[in-house]
Amino acid sequence: MEKVVIIGSGPAGLTAALYTARANLQPVVLSGNQLGGQVSITSEVENYPGFPQGATGPELVELMQKQAEKFGARLVVDEVTQVDFRGGPPFRVTTHAGSYETEAVIVATGASPRRLGVPGEDGLIGRGVSFCATCDGFFFRNKEVVVVGGGDSAAEEGLFLTRFANSVRVVHRRDELRAGETLKKRAFANQKMSFTWNTVVEEIVGQGKVQAVRIRNLKTGERQELPTDGVFIYIGHFPNTDLFQGQLEMDALGYLRTDARMMTSVAGVFAAGEVQDPVYRQVASSVGQGCQAGMMAERWLAERE
Ligand code: NAP
Repeated sequence: MEKVVIIGSGPAGLTAALYTARANLQPVVLSGNQLGGQVSITSEVENYPGFPQGATGPELVELMQKQAEKFGARLVVDEVTQVDFRGGPPFRVTTHAGSYETEAVIVATGASPRRLGVPGEDGLIGRGVSFCATCDGFFFRNKEVVVVGGGDSAAEEGLFLTRFANSVRVVHRRDELRAGETLKKRAFANQKMSFTWNTVVEEIVGQGKVQAVRIRNLKTGERQELPTDGVFIYIGHFPNTDLFQGQLEMDALGYLRTDARMMTSVAGVFAAGEVQDPVYRQVASSVGQGCQAGMMAERWLAERE
């Protein structure tokens, strides 16, 4: 019987691991299919306190993991396939490789990038369609790429892509970016970046690899085919909550509901990070929520004893 199982290994999960490990609960951290979560595929993090020069996502993850493990957290590279929170504790968490019984659970499964849902997108993933500039940017050396979206991710990852590509064209459905001022300034100042406003991608075209996008101007209705070698999609995220359908309460968008103690609708099951946060979605806020969930899980276990 485990004291605490943490599902997810992003900043929220690893911080919950650090706090519960330091409370001597020897948490098990189940990594999920992407160790470190979304930040592990983020090129540069410039707004996480303590790193005035910035840090890469993978650097931050490695440091967070080391720190949690130093105090006794056990990281298991495995994916949860099923949970049973009914009638618990104990709760049961099943993975590809095994099964855990635990007195408390911290859900930190994060969020995943949204897809455009246009023809050509699914079939060309890995063949020019990407959701990760850090992973795939290198393949676009001296090429032309399109970035879809107008938020911080589109601006930041677009800027990262200018290191490789000849040109980065941001296609955005409105006529202004949602991204923060600093990123916006840098994006507008970058010679390699250009912006196509009020425009949506209707189709991604290519035989075996991306060759063009079909776009439509929302103001004029004009359609155009734009040749490109790659399409990087940054149009937001959805919470990874499929596992918890019918067991934990969610809002209309599928985010887990938590109370002020980070407790979900099931006593003993806590949640932290983007799986329950549609608003802040920062490394710093996820770390804060992971800390809160870790502390509250520890307190809840102590009260039960
Ligand atoms: P986001 O802020 O939700 O922005 C999504 C962008 O995609 C918006 O510009 C949105 O357009 C557009 N969009 C949404 N659905 C679309 C669709 N179906 N077709 C075309 N465009 C669509 O997502 P994000 O940029 O990934 O950022 C997520 C969170 O992480 C934010 O809180 C952000 O601040 C944070 N973040 C921060 C940093 C940083 O501070 N350095 C870096 C990355 C991410 P509209 O603008 O018209 O809604």
